Amino acid sequence: MDCIFCKIVEGSIPSRKVYEDEHVYAFEDIQPQAPVHLLVIPKKHIASMNEAEPEDAELLGRVLLAAKKVANDAGLAESGYRLINNIGKDSGQVVFHIHVHVLGGEKLGALNA
Ligand code: C5P
Repeated sequence: MDCIFCKIVEGSIPSRKVYEDEHVYAFEDIQPQAPVHLLVIPKKHIASMNEAEPEDAELLGRVLLAAKKVANDAGLAESGYRLINNIGKDSGQVVFHIHVHVLGGEKLGALNA
């Protein structure tokens, strides 16, 4: 599987890991768009949320709860943060392995800015 995030999970491409469990991996984005910019991914390869199936429901819940955990560990609980999941061409998705962006550490722009 020629997937950069699968290779990050395997360890064949380095990453700055912030969290890992049996199902989920989280790491610092290499091109941060905010003072805190983390990515949370399922270890299972799913290209995007548009390819997710009902059997992935528990896994996707784990991804969201891990996003909460890494945001809290980064000190963002009080100030708040944003979770983003891009899907497909018009969203600007460039890596086709589900990932939730965790953005925070400053006042974020309005979504329609
Ligand atoms: O949602 P989208 O697919 O556009 O985001 C992909 C993200 O993956 C980008 O923010 C990019 O900086 C990040 N990335 C990374 N490490 C890599 C390749 C991409 O953090 N090796």
